[in-house]
Amino acid sequence: MNPSRFLLSILLLSSFLAAQAVSPRARAIHDSAIIVDTHADTPQRFLYENFDIGTTDPKDIGHISLDKARAGNLGAEFFSIWADPETTRGHFAKSTFDMIDSVYEQAARHPDRIMMAFSVADIERAHKEKKLAALMGIEGGHSIENDIHLLRDFYRLGVRYMTLSWSNTNEWADSSGDIDKPEVEHHNGLTDFGKQVVLEMNRMGMMVDISHVADKTFFDAIATTKAPVIASHSSARALTNHARNMTDDMLRAVAKNGGVVQTNFYDAFIDENYRKASEAQKKDAEDAVQAHIAELNAAGKPVTYLDKDRIEREWAAKIPRPPLKSLIDHIDHIAKVAGIDHVGLGSDFDGVSGATPEGIDSAADLPKITQALLDRGYSAEDIHKILGGNLLRVFGEVERVSRGMQAESQRTTGQ
Ligand SMILES: [Zn+2]
Repeated sequence: MNPSRFLLSILLLSSFLAAQAVSPRARAIHDSAIIVDTHADTPQRFLYENFDIGTTDPKDIGHISLDKARAGNLGAEFFSIWADPETTRGHFAKSTFDMIDSVYEQAARHPDRIMMAFSVADIERAHKEKKLAALMGIEGGHSIENDIHLLRDFYRLGVRYMTLSWSNTNEWADSSGDIDKPEVEHHNGLTDFGKQVVLEMNRMGMMVDISHVADKTFFDAIATTKAPVIASHSSARALTNHARNMTDDMLRAVAKNGGVVQTNFYDAFIDENYRKASEAQKKDAEDAVQAHIAELNAAGKPVTYLDKDRIEREWAAKIPRPPLKSLIDHIDHIAKVAGIDHVGLGSDFDGVSGATPEGIDSAADLPKITQALLDRGYSAEDIHKILGGNLLRVFGEVERVSRGMQAESQRTTGQ
């Protein structure tokens, strides 16, 4: 090797190490925070793969385990309770109950390291006891099967947010996922029943989550809600032009509402090049998934989300991963447009077929985000807000609004 090539190798190696390294200062800021991630699809693995969150398997490719959470100082995870509208059609509520049960079962297996949590106070208690706080959010209003009683049952079982829709428009909320499909019956946003759902969520203390909804549904929800809203896993459309992402007007509306936008880590939402490459192969990837489903159906085998995920991973791996910078650009943009009090983390871990930016392979890599924010000049105080402080403030406000609405209804009905 000639001297200049040797020098180049040293330079490449040191820049690689610098990109991976977390300084003692960043680590100290990271470790003194209560870190809240508002979206992980791990319950699909709990239910359909019999995955144990206590696994120590070094080859496990999942984003979340108790060891990975501890290594990344993750304090609270909102596990996504998602009934796949395709594979669980006809029994959404039952699938939702099964998914909820799967989270409780994990907590029961490892009571020394994880606990169910239903409030800000629970998250703080789990943090003191050095346990992962396990919370639950429903992904997709279709889970309630148009029944306000089911919504209340889900709250009683501990569900603390619900996205008004998933990628599918339901009977009362339009989704960004199919808003351009003329064959889908749309409602111009939220129906009257949809508005009733939002108000009932406010009354109970369930956070209204606007991730996935169509733009008009978002503005209807903002106009209806009496409490701050969250976007549990959404990024910025100004940087990556995906309908799932939020426009600057939406970011400003969340700021005005007092809510928080939890930045999604998915490559197709945070990197325009990746999004375009993903869009270009979308039809082929979808066809491959449908062919696989048809194969399983023909063999009389049950089909779950994980069967689709396996094929989607193969397609996602064809596109180069974007750098961590792409994710940090989104956090930075939301902080600039909405304000530092209105941005957080909503990873979408275990729900994106492995397509997360370079360096972010699991919850253990969260300290690298703190390092990157520090490198961009964010203060320790601001970083703490992003890592979980903002979400805890919004959750606390949702709890206060709920208490107020319940006291008010007792005054008016209990004479
Ligand atoms: Zn989602």
